[in-house]
Amino acid sequence: MQSINPFTGQIIQEYPEYSPAEVEEIILKVDRAYQSWKQTSFEQRAVCLKNLQAKLLEKKEELAAIIVSEMGKIKREALGEVEKCALVCGFYADNAESFLKNEPIKTEASESYISYQPIGTILAVMPWNFPFWQVFRFLAPALMAGNTGVLKHASNVSGCALAIEQLVQDAGFPDNVFRTLLIGSKSVKTVIENPLIKAVTLTGSTLAGRSVASVAGSVLKKSVLELGGSDPYLILEDADIETAARLCVTSRLLNAGQSCIGAKRFIIIDSVYDQFKTEFVRLMSQATFGDPLDPQTTVGPLARTDLRDELHQQVEKSRQLGATVLLGGSIPEGEAPFYPPTVLENVVPGMPAYHEELFGPVAVLFRVNSEDEAIRIANDTVFGLGAGIFTADIEKGKLLAEKGLEAGCVFVNDFVKSDPRLPFGGIRESGYGRELSAIGIREFMNVKTVVVK
Ligand code: NAP
Repeated sequence: MQSINPFTGQIIQEYPEYSPAEVEEIILKVDRAYQSWKQTSFEQRAVCLKNLQAKLLEKKEELAAIIVSEMGKIKREALGEVEKCALVCGFYADNAESFLKNEPIKTEASESYISYQPIGTILAVMPWNFPFWQVFRFLAPALMAGNTGVLKHASNVSGCALAIEQLVQDAGFPDNVFRTLLIGSKSVKTVIENPLIKAVTLTGSTLAGRSVASVAGSVLKKSVLELGGSDPYLILEDADIETAARLCVTSRLLNAGQSCIGAKRFIIIDSVYDQFKTEFVRLMSQATFGDPLDPQTTVGPLARTDLRDELHQQVEKSRQLGATVLLGGSIPEGEAPFYPPTVLENVVPGMPAYHEELFGPVAVLFRVNSEDEAIRIANDTVFGLGAGIFTADIEKGKLLAEKGLEAGCVFVNDFVKSDPRLPFGGIRESGYGRELSAIGIREFMNVKTVVVK
């Protein structure tokens, strides 16, 4: 496996894949660690997690530099990502015990209650786009719950994977409660089938989700899937158009557009379409792409050349089928896999830009005549991760959020963000299960019923 700096094109390091025997040995050690880790108190676990929180903050420059070099995120965003990992550690250190305390239930018995118990070692298969955050939002609740974890990270961010393993060790957790497996995706099946692995969580593409879920299903292990998205944003007639355009552009360009919850489709009521379009295209055109370490850069390179080329093909094919390119749409000169902020309109069913996830700084604008039509287009997708609505009528916004838009989360007058306090996840091909909040930590627990006659 290779880590390549997308901006410079230089190979940072090559990592030999662990052999099947090495993988088995690590899983055995993690299972042994589980046997004693599950006996520890919340207080003991919280001390370790708070240490981990402190280590993240202490080393944030160093850690952000690994993120920047391996996947090209701009430095400011990489620092923010590390800080968010510290936040989720603090959140679960403070709240896990109350999330997992016994829940009494009134029955005819003298006592009955729910007791949340850990289940063992969980496999986490993770993507490169938020190479720290995706791992920490699994790791923090899993370890606080008394489970142990093994990480199979994306093959292009092995440096991040090893840094996270080292951080856990440095934070004073017992040996082997969390280990990294340097393996390719072909080896995931054997790991899931290992009897010492009790469940699997995957964040990644729908294709990978399908594969992992089917293996997990074949051995009857629970899975949680956080997959792709094509989040729609509704701009209603009474919206504050300047604010809406600014927030929509921010969301679309975050992480160079490589975010599952990036705003991707913008569905605008006819009467405000032109005003929104003008402002949106103006703001998209102001983005500066370049060296991710340069503080002036707002959009870094995409993580890999193959991903950039795939994105361009989606744009190009849509253009050939009749889409209008309002901005961008061509590959800039140079070796680094940059893609310019791009805006499309006149996108209709049958075009890749209508149906597929655009994992880069490409936005699609739709003009609609009514709110019903806006909802119809918003929901005309296989995905269902996030969605947004811009309107001055908060009650209407809430109603459309609850009853209209089919997604795991809807934000009114803002763009979708993950937050340790709120459940996060999707429906349909965006996956199932939830991460974060009290609901996330309970995903990998034995929800045990205890009844005393
Ligand atoms: P990806 O290609 O699916 O890879 C994700 C992880 O799955 C990597 O560790 C990859 O390993 C592994 N993998 C790939 N194919 C597999 C298979 N058949 N069996 C088992 N493991 C497999 O996705 P990506 O390109 O890294 O990430 C982008 C995708 O993730 C986008 O679709 C994005 O929307 C989604 N995402 C979703 C969320 C969310 O919370 N819903 C968050 C972030 C990203 P290798 O690297 O070794 O191939």
